Amino acid sequence: MKITRIASHVLQYGLPEELGYSQQYYARRTAHLVEVETDEGITGWGECFGPGNVAFGNKAIVEKVIQPLVLGMDPMDRDVIWHKVYNLLRDHGQKGMPLQSLSGIDIALWDIAGKVSGLPIHKLIGGAHRDRVPVYGYGMMLRREDAASLAARFTDEAAAIKDAGFAATKMKIGLGPRDDAKLAAAVRKGVGDDFDFMADANHAYTTSDAFYVGRALEDLGAYWFEEPVAPEDHDGYRELRAGLKINISGGEAEFSRWGWRSLLEARGLDIAQPEVCALGGISEYLRVLALCHAHFTPVVNHVWGSAIAVATNLQLLAAMPVLPGGLFPREPMLEFDTTDNRFRDQLLTEPLDIQRQVARSGGYAAIPSGPGLGVEPDRDFLRAYEVDT
Ligand code: CA
Repeated sequence: MKITRIASHVLQYGLPEELGYSQQYYARRTAHLVEVETDEGITGWGECFGPGNVAFGNKAIVEKVIQPLVLGMDPMDRDVIWHKVYNLLRDHGQKGMPLQSLSGIDIALWDIAGKVSGLPIHKLIGGAHRDRVPVYGYGMMLRREDAASLAARFTDEAAAIKDAGFAATKMKIGLGPRDDAKLAAAVRKGVGDDFDFMADANHAYTTSDAFYVGRALEDLGAYWFEEPVAPEDHDGYRELRAGLKINISGGEAEFSRWGWRSLLEARGLDIAQPEVCALGGISEYLRVLALCHAHFTPVVNHVWGSAIAVATNLQLLAAMPVLPGGLFPREPMLEFDTTDNRFRDQLLTEPLDIQRQVARSGGYAAIPSGPGLGVEPDRDFLRAYEVDT
């Protein structure tokens, strides 16, 4: 079996309203799918993390840099392919866009392996520890409005996410420490006392400001404080974890086993959030998962993007052992975007329909059981949303 072609599909549409997080506002939704074709008619699908114009840069890396290195190779040799690509690109980037690009190809190779064997990816990894996972719904994105009106909006949105059946919810913060404390109080008001909520700063803060926000979140009983400081600031992570009671989470901007080794050895994470579509794909995710568990750090995958990313993460969450084990373990959760996203809802020939599953089951999504990822994108949909630049 040989790889005959690798194609990137960058999809975009204008959002009905501008959304924001601590770093920027954005008005367009982007997804970047990777398609790997073989000489036996089996096609695999993957996804690369990377919003906006980053997706176009990654498309060039996928098609013009990595494709020539792997054409003609056996797609079942995914670990050989991974190391050939990584080793040849090492001098040009051990993190960031080269790894995001390799991730989409690696996921597609796992999809092919599943289709060849007739097994879902979680079976190839070692089996399902669970047949469904709790889903937390994130929303409460920033808007260009003052803190008081945003807080009122967050109270309503948090209540709506809870009412939709999600197991927990997550908000954005990043207005500044004092306003963030007001936003978090508004979310607690919306969900009531007995419901988990988390806050995501997208590395907006210095350590001292993060301490202020972290203490406010602690007082409100928030479950985790995500990306409080810059991902490079391992000392800041360690100091926050030592000084705050709230769980410190992060890792979506870290790459490969080597990046994760340094992050974990800094002892600054209570919860690790690896992003499979960025850190190096499923092959590297499994090594990072082993590293996290070797450090007794629980993992709740970071999930962003289209239904391909959601399906990939459902496969990985099925195959994740509990840590440390017990009668009543805290199960890993699926991160799920509750904002407008056609690439999540309309991309697949048979939609996952997570929102309906969550509403019916009290907060759970089932693990797809078909071969590979267990899902297929609709080519008419791809054609309708694909953009060149
Ligand atoms: Ca995040």
